[in-house]
Order: sequence, then C-alpha cells, then structure tokens
Amino acid sequence: MTRTLLTGGSGFIAAHILEALLKRGHSVVTTVRSKEKAEQIKTSHPGVSKENLDFVIVPDLSAPNAFDQAVVSDPPFEAVIHTASPFHFRVQDVKKDLLDPSINGTVGLLEAVKNNAPSVKRVVVTSSGAAILDFSKPHTYTFTDADWNNMTWEEATSNPINAYRASKVFSEKAAWDFVEKNKPHYSLTSINPPMVYGPIVHHIKDLDGLNTSNERIRDIAFGKVKDSCPFTGIFLWVDVRDLALAHVLAIEKLEAAGQRFLLSPGQYSNKDIVECIREAFPELRDGLPTGDALKPGDFPPTGWYGYDNTKSKEVLGISYRPLKECIVDTVNSLKVFVK
Ligand code: NDP
Repeated sequence: MTRTLLTGGSGFIAAHILEALLKRGHSVVTTVRSKEKAEQIKTSHPGVSKENLDFVIVPDLSAPNAFDQAVVSDPPFEAVIHTASPFHFRVQDVKKDLLDPSINGTVGLLEAVKNNAPSVKRVVVTSSGAAILDFSKPHTYTFTDADWNNMTWEEATSNPINAYRASKVFSEKAAWDFVEKNKPHYSLTSINPPMVYGPIVHHIKDLDGLNTSNERIRDIAFGKVKDSCPFTGIFLWVDVRDLALAHVLAIEKLEAAGQRFLLSPGQYSNKDIVECIREAFPELRDGLPTGDALKPGDFPPTGWYGYDNTKSKEVLGISYRPLKECIVDTVNSLKVFVK
C-alpha cells in the first residue's frame, strides 16, 4: 500500500485514477478546490474510510506555496500524482488562465514536495501528447516518448487552443528541468496521453459541465454535429481507464522512474466514433452525420503521423481497450443526463 497524494480529484481523469488507486489497495489524499467537491467525491465512495480517502482544499494551484500544507500527511506520503491543470478554452487571458496555473502549479508542487515531504519517492505528472506531438514534422514521422513539441512562447499565446497545448509542453519541460537542477529525493515520471475518452465517474451537474475531451463524443452522439462531423485534429486516443491504471503502475513500478510514456492504443478518427455509435445505439442514429457530412471527420488523404507505444506496454505493462468499448461505455455514461 502506497500513501498517495492525488491533485485535482474532482476531474475526469483523476476520478478514474482515484478508483484505480483504491482498487489496488493504496490510500489516497486528494486535493480539491472546495469542501463541496470533497463531499461529492466522498458520497460517491460510500464505505471507504477516512484513512483510505481524505481531502485537502487547494483552491488555486498557481497561488504561491499552494501545496506546502497539502504535501504533509500522517502517515506521510510516498507518492504524488499530479493531474490538476486547466483544460478548457473559456479563457480571457491565456497566460493567467492556462499557462500560469499549469506551469506554476507543477513547479510549485515539485518544490513543496522537495521541501516538506521527505518520504515521497515517486512523483508522476499527467502531461499530454501535446508535449510530444510536433506538427512541424513531416506527416510520415513516427512519434515516440523521446519527442518534444518545440512550440515557442509566441505560438503559445496566439490563441486558447495553442495556449492549452503549450501549457502542457512548458509545464512538463519545467518539471524535468526542476528535477535536473535540484536533484530532489524523488523520481519523476510523465504520462503523455493524447485525446482521452471514456465513461465519466466524476460529479457533473449536466452535460454542459462535461470535461473538454468528452464533449466531442457528447456532440456526435446527441445530434449536435449531424450536418458536419468535426475535424479530428489529433488522430490518437486512449481510454481513461487504461490511462488511470498507467498512472498507478507508474508509482508501483521502479522501472517507470525517470521516464516519459506516450500512452495510446493507436489512431482513430471522428468518423470512427460516429460508426461505433451508429452500430451500438440504433436510437441515436437519426442524429448522426452520414454521407458527405461525415467526410470532415475522416483521416486526411495523406494519412497521419505514426506513433510508438512500445514503452507503455513493455515497462508499464498496459494492454489497451479497443475504441468501440470506450465509445459505447462513454455514451452509456452520458445518456443518463439526457431527458
Ligand atoms: P478536468 O477539467 O476534468 O480536470 C482538471 C482538474 O484540474 C480539475 O480537478 C480542476 O478542478 C483542476 N484545476 C484546473 N484549474 C485549477 C486551478 N487553477 N487550481 C486548482 N485546480 C485546478 O480535465 P481532465 O481530467 O481531462 O484533465 C486532467 C489532466 O489531464 C490535465 O492536466 C490535462 O491537461 C491532462 N490531459 C487531459 C487530456 C484529455 O483528453 N482529457 C489529454 C491529455 C492530458 P475543478 O474541477 O475544481 O475545476
């Protein structure tokens, strides 16, 4: 059993990591932004003791010294999993709303663990495929865990989508730089998922409050894009449950220390999502794009980049779920919100 601090427990991915941690016998303290969010998580885990699941309030991860108290626990933490970071495009100021919380939150947490949590051996950060995928490369290129997206600050601040991608590039780079420079008493691992889909187990009030990546499945399934299937953009995906397990394996397996992991079973397109839904949910067929309306969601005629997920399978031992299972389970978890 590993006593673990999980940041951002109210999020889509973190909720699955929390489940995976508890299932594998670890005890967890998770940071949330309010008491109300702590109560919601507690309610969805009836019968789990305070020793196994506890909470600490961190209202803003980019505030100075935000994590100084959160990293202190009795019994003390042995591992930290850092997921909290803004992932949405409803922003006024890309630096203040996306880049600063992501970068300062990550470095602030690493600093807090270095100064206040001497028993922590492993820190795992949820980075992103965005920190790896560099679209200035030719489309025949195969991305591996060794690649970096070489975005500039100018590109980063040009629009909210770029700023989100850059928030992941710069925060992960800052994390590796911190470890290189400070040689702390813990190891760092980064998990780099591309588009993450999957059933929701975190609290949302309604489908307007859905996490950003699953919005695409919501919009396809419930008739919002019938006239034109959206452009896929990132043609790599992973199921949130496989991603959650990867985070937990990264704290359990010594070999994961000091490594980055590109996590994906492979390529997909929005057209593939449509076809999974068409096959599994006859009652949703009328709202799905067909014929020419499907074309924008298909692969480009030139094909798309290659990917190499070998390390995720060989070091972490991940075996990936297929797209159909992911889409069917996701749609079922969203259908309960549709009246
Ligand atoms: P969610 O929006 O569901 O979760 C984000 C979490 O971060 C929430 O707990 C949120 O708290 C917290 N958070 C955001 N901003 C702040 C802040 N300023 N102070 C404190 N907490 C904050 O997104 P996901 O679960 O999808 O994302 C989790 C992580 O995974 C992020 O680091 C994201 O970049 C990364 N990722 C996600 C991918 C995806 O496709 N979903 C792909 C690649 C990486 P609250 O709930 O209170 O807002």
